[in-house]
Amino acid sequence: MSATFASLGLSKPLLQALDDQDYLAPTPIQSQAIPAVLSGADVWASAQTGSGKTAAFALPILEKLSHAPASHPLKVRALILAPTRELAAQIGDSIHNYGYRLDEPIKTTVVFGGVSINPQMMALRGGTDIVVATPGRLLDLVDKNALKLSSVETLVLDEADRLFNLGFADELNRVLALLPARRQNLLFSATFPPAVDSLARALLRDPVRIAVSSDDAPSAAPVEITQRAIEVDHGRRTQLLRTLIEENQWTRVLVFVATKYHTSHVADKLRKAGLRAAPFHGELSQGARTENLEDFKDGRLQVLIATDVAARGLDIQGLPAVVNYDLPRSPADYLHRIGRTGRAGEQGVAVSFITAETHHHFRIIEKKNGLQLERERIAGFEPIDVIIPPLDPNGGVKGKRPSKKDKLRAAQAAAEALKKR
Ligand code: AMP
Repeated sequence: MSATFASLGLSKPLLQALDDQDYLAPTPIQSQAIPAVLSGADVWASAQTGSGKTAAFALPILEKLSHAPASHPLKVRALILAPTRELAAQIGDSIHNYGYRLDEPIKTTVVFGGVSINPQMMALRGGTDIVVATPGRLLDLVDKNALKLSSVETLVLDEADRLFNLGFADELNRVLALLPARRQNLLFSATFPPAVDSLARALLRDPVRIAVSSDDAPSAAPVEITQRAIEVDHGRRTQLLRTLIEENQWTRVLVFVATKYHTSHVADKLRKAGLRAAPFHGELSQGARTENLEDFKDGRLQVLIATDVAARGLDIQGLPAVVNYDLPRSPADYLHRIGRTGRAGEQGVAVSFITAETHHHFRIIEKKNGLQLERERIAGFEPIDVIIPPLDPNGGVKGKRPSKKDKLRAAQAAAEALKKR
């Protein structure tokens, strides 16, 4: 028989809040992690965003904090470190949604860089039970004596691999040095590259190991992402995007492009065509980022044009479509991007635009991910650009760009093809 939330040892106010959220049953990671965390064990979890991992650590932390009163009101009792501002904010929202029915409120404060530190210092005044933080800002706040970490009972490292990828290793070590030696450690990571693996080994004491596959998504229904690969010429992608939005009546679509310049460029073009579109990248002010994301989540924006870095960890409910306007560089990013749709058991479609230039790169992405997608063509958008073959016919020269000669040859062939039309 599969577990229920009640059977995992959660008390009524949390169960009611889960009911309010329409969480019918725990996901695999929740069934395994919640009892482990409640028992006080360390946890080593391999889990992706989308598996329900936030509730897997947030619920038992709330449960524990609600039973044991704080020894000192000014000291932080649970510290959750996350790699990005958006993820930190999302975790804070989730904790609020799970904990709002508790008799004694558990105060949670979210802090991250890129915005003024003063309101965060104010928010921390009078103490807080839980801090959700990006590492750099947390250290700034410690330096300013805005909070103390010497009483942390539970530490969570969420998306530990991204913490390393985004260059937070030094900050992480500095934070660890500020924590008491006796504490519970929970480490969540989608992947375990050597740096994360050795951190896990050094940090975790006799951990309960949990591994859930990316298929173990929340709710009863399986994640349902339809992947499509559409061939189109480089210069016609915006037009095709508009057509797809119209034809499929996508109420919202997250579009990935390669650079922050392109986010604004494509957003401008779509706006001129009457669509509610906005850019989303790491160098927008935090205010603009939050506003665009909120507008998108609430449906005031229809199209969000994002770079990879900005889209990390985003959890947007009911997102029907993701479009790879530019392909991601790495095969892993491909999976990460398409996982923004089809979350929590909803249906989603992930479309990749394949141009003559990216034809071979997409093959590599497919191969690495064990995929083989049928190439589609949309009427009126049949490509005429000529695919440049890999320079090495035995499989291509990895990372090598076409030479001027190759490009010239391709351009001539394209011109020929145009003439014949
Ligand atoms: P996460 O992996 O924590 O980012 O969660 C992914 C999404 O699944 C979020 O939108 C959660 O609100 C949702 N979710 C988490 N647990 C459950 C559950 N047991 N049932 C339904 N949805 C859930």
